[in-house]
Amino acid sequence: MRMEKIILADLNHYEGVITKGIGGFYYVKTADGILECKARGRFRKEKILPYVGDRVVVHAVNETEGSIDEILPRKNQLIRPPVANIERLVLVMAITAPEPDLKIVDKLLVTAESKEIETAICINKTDLDSGEKTRGFREIYEKAGYPVMEVSAENETGLDEVCRFLQGKISAFAGNSGVGKSSILSLVTNRRLETGVISDRTERGKHTTRHVELLELPFGGFVLDTPGFSNIEVSGLTADDVRFLFPEIEKLEGKCRFRGCRHVAEPGCAVTEQVKTGLIASSRYQNYKDLAVQLASVKEWQKK
Ligand code: GDP
Ligand code: ZN
Repeated sequence: MRMEKIILADLNHYEGVITKGIGGFYYVKTADGILECKARGRFRKEKILPYVGDRVVVHAVNETEGSIDEILPRKNQLIRPPVANIERLVLVMAITAPEPDLKIVDKLLVTAESKEIETAICINKTDLDSGEKTRGFREIYEKAGYPVMEVSAENETGLDEVCRFLQGKISAFAGNSGVGKSSILSLVTNRRLETGVISDRTERGKHTTRHVELLELPFGGFVLDTPGFSNIEVSGLTADDVRFLFPEIEKLEGKCRFRGCRHVAEPGCAVTEQVKTGLIASSRYQNYKDLAVQLASVKEWQKK
């Protein structure tokens, strides 16, 4: 089979996914294995940089090497980390150590919504909870419409649900330092990764080339090996976008008395009504307002 493909070079085209890029070489996972590829000069001329996560058409020049002919249209693109086509996000928070910071969680959710990334909330370190705190967080995010998964990386519980969520997709993990991202990642990929190292932000800022790699999951799909979006990237958003990026608020669009209601102090507002009755979690609503205010104060040039 392989010999035939090499002889019939014209037919030797594959579709694949870029899993890693190092020094001008791109590693493309195809149905027949990994090809080390160079991008064609055309991409450099057109200033198109292939990204990890890009779906590409390649042709093999031998059993291990190839060339990228085409980059297929991207579903989305992140700048930090530089990666394309992330379909799913596992947003990890810990019950304690560190205490959940719902402001960060909600900002990450807004980012994910703006990139049309399907997100699940993963509550980790449930071994450190009698159940009460877990239930509280579950309720907040279920009301918002997100799937919630309860995990203990320590006891290795709840991981099946995470794996099912990742299966067949390109995914990333997010959440602040110490919540257990690396621990969960190493369990789902069956691969040892560095854990327990709380990275120093300023130290990390000095490295210009951060390693980004997609790991293949044993049950199908890929996951980004670096904790995605620890830098919260809400760039390019305006205050007006925010009400479409909280699903439980977006759902009520058009239900308020006034068109274009910002859901702050307007009379007849369906959102504030649901906050009062508890259908919308007050922490979510508070973070919605804070984020809208924050973005309203961002100057035009900062949005670029
Ligand atoms: P990351 O910074 O999000 O990648 O977090 P790590 O995976 O490095 O975990 C940070 C610390 O929390 C490590 O000391 C882990 O052993 C610990 N840890 C991770 N998951 C759990 C868990 O489910 N329960 C408990 N008790 N500790 C955990
Ligand atoms: Zn309203």
